[in-house]
This record gives sequence, structure tokens and C-alpha cells, in this order.
Amino acid sequence: MKKAKRKIIGFTTTIPVEIIFAAGHVPCDLNNIFITDENPLRFIEKAERDGFPKSMCNWIKGIYGVVMEKGIDTVIMVMEGDCSNTKALAEILEFKGINIVPFSFPFDRDRHALKRQIDKLIEYFNVDPEALNSVEDEIKGVREILKKIDEMTWREKVVTGYENHIWLIRSSDMLGNYKKYGKMAQDFIEETKSRNPIQGVNVGFIGIPPIITDIYQFLDAIGAHVVYNEIQRQFSIPFDTSDMVERYLTYTYPYEIFARIRDIKREIKKRGIKGIIHYVQAFCFRVMEDVILRETIECPILTIEGELPKPLDTRQKMRLEAFIEMLKEKDN
Ligand code: SF4
Repeated sequence: MKKAKRKIIGFTTTIPVEIIFAAGHVPCDLNNIFITDENPLRFIEKAERDGFPKSMCNWIKGIYGVVMEKGIDTVIMVMEGDCSNTKALAEILEFKGINIVPFSFPFDRDRHALKRQIDKLIEYFNVDPEALNSVEDEIKGVREILKKIDEMTWREKVVTGYENHIWLIRSSDMLGNYKKYGKMAQDFIEETKSRNPIQGVNVGFIGIPPIITDIYQFLDAIGAHVVYNEIQRQFSIPFDTSDMVERYLTYTYPYEIFARIRDIKREIKKRGIKGIIHYVQAFCFRVMEDVILRETIECPILTIEGELPKPLDTRQKMRLEAFIEMLKEKDN
């Protein structure tokens, strides 16, 4: 089989990244490039200069800005199961000359439909089945290490909520090199072994990853320990199955909310969580999910809305402080 030239493949949310690695390309989660940049606001400004409205989710504008600035020519876009803005963004990017590869997670979690999507991606990237098997085996080992980091956050309490967030969120593309990422994660575990357990009331973080830049650090400072990052954990695909279709059917994020609720309830119990912070993004349709979450999660919930990649404002800080104080009093 003739090997395609190695190139960067962008994507807008977690996809079966095993396929991109097996094709010999470098996967790149555009969200991570946007939010970890020294000046993420410039991507938003670029999008607004090109005509994106102010009253629109800034993650979308950030992704657009990254694709334009970094010269990424192929982007896998999740048309079903991620974001209501994806279709329009795909059209704009295609219009700008970007090669769009559509992928979908079927809303009804239909196995055959998902398998068809996975097979299409394998075919598109001309992936050798043997190469895919070997990547799947190796990546399983990396995901085990990430599971250990997650466990060390709530069981031994030697990993901070921010570290947990960073390790799990970057697992969507493993920084473009899963072998190196696995080694870095293993080294990180060694480094944490001499730490003392973190004190603080156990809180969980649910909803999409926050655009706010200092929320974890602020929670640490006011005596809260984030022991659960719901969606980031899902991005790390911590499911023990060798069947790729099963793996991405068990993944909760792209489907209806009820599997997410079951996952959240299970983890609240397991991790001894006293309160939940539900992060929502301004102008995101997922804000509406707060209605169901508030009625189904039997744990105090504080909803925090963010808009720009900036530190917390005074009002958000005061709300977080009052919430954590209330949890501490309840816990005594
Ligand atoms: S925050 Fe919501 S609207 Fe924004 S990209 Fe994510 S899913 Fe889409």
C-alpha cells in the first residue's frame, strides 16, 4: 500500500484518533491549539473581522481563526453529535478552500450507522488494517496511563484538578504523537509520587471544557479540589474494549444527555463529590441541558457561564466562593 504524505489533520471535537495515527498523519485538536495559545483572543478577532457575529460561541470563532492562521488544509468535522454550528462552519471553511472530511456520531447510538462512519474514515485515509490494529493496541496502553492519572486525582489526591483537566483534554490528539504522550504521562505519574494529598472539598466539573483561563487555579485557592472532569474524561476514552465501534458507542459526549447523567451520577458516588460546577458557554445550545441536569443530579450544582478566554470576573469569583463555602459548611 502506497503511504500518503504525512500531514496535519485538524478536527473540531474528539474523533476515532486511532485512524489518523494509523494513516501516518498527525492529528490536531483545533480546540486545544486555540485555547493553549498565548493570545487566543486574536483567533476570535480574526473570525470577527471576517464577518462572524459577536453573538456567537467563541470556541467556533477560535477554531476558525486557528484553521485560517495555521494553514491547516484538511479538517474532520463532526456534523452530528457535537455542535449545532458545525454545518455552517464546515460550509465557510470549504468556501475558503479547506478540505472537509465529515464524520457523525448517530444520535440514536446506532451501531451499524457508527460502524459505517468509522469505515468511511478508514477508507478515506486509506488505512492499513494491520497498522490500525497495532496503533489500537499501543494507544490502549496510553489510555491506561491516563486512567491512572485520573484515579490519582480522586483516590490518592496527588493530582490537581487542573492537571487532570490538561492530561485528559489533550488526549483527543495526544499532542500529535501518542508514544511520546504516553511517556510524558508516565513521567508525570513518577513525579507525583512524592506529593502529599491535596486537601479541599471534593467538587466535580461537568459540561464542556471551560474557556475561562484560571478557574481551576481559583478553585484550588479557595479550598476546593476538582476530582472529576466529566467531558475531559470522556475525551480520554477510558473504556476497556478492543472493539473500536463499541469504544465510541460507550463514549457519552456526542449522544443524548441521559448516558451522561448516568455517568455523572456514578462518578459522584465513586469519587465522594460534594458539589458540581456546571460550566456552560455563552451562545451554546448546550446551555439548555442545565434544565435537565438540575433536575436529575442529586448534588448541589452551580452553573458558571463563560464567554471569552479570560480570567474569572469578580462576580464569578464571588459566586464560586459562596458555593464552596456552602459545601464546606455542609461537609462539617
Ligand atoms: S461551546 Fe457549544 S456552541 Fe460552542 S463549539 Fe462547543 S458545542 Fe458548539
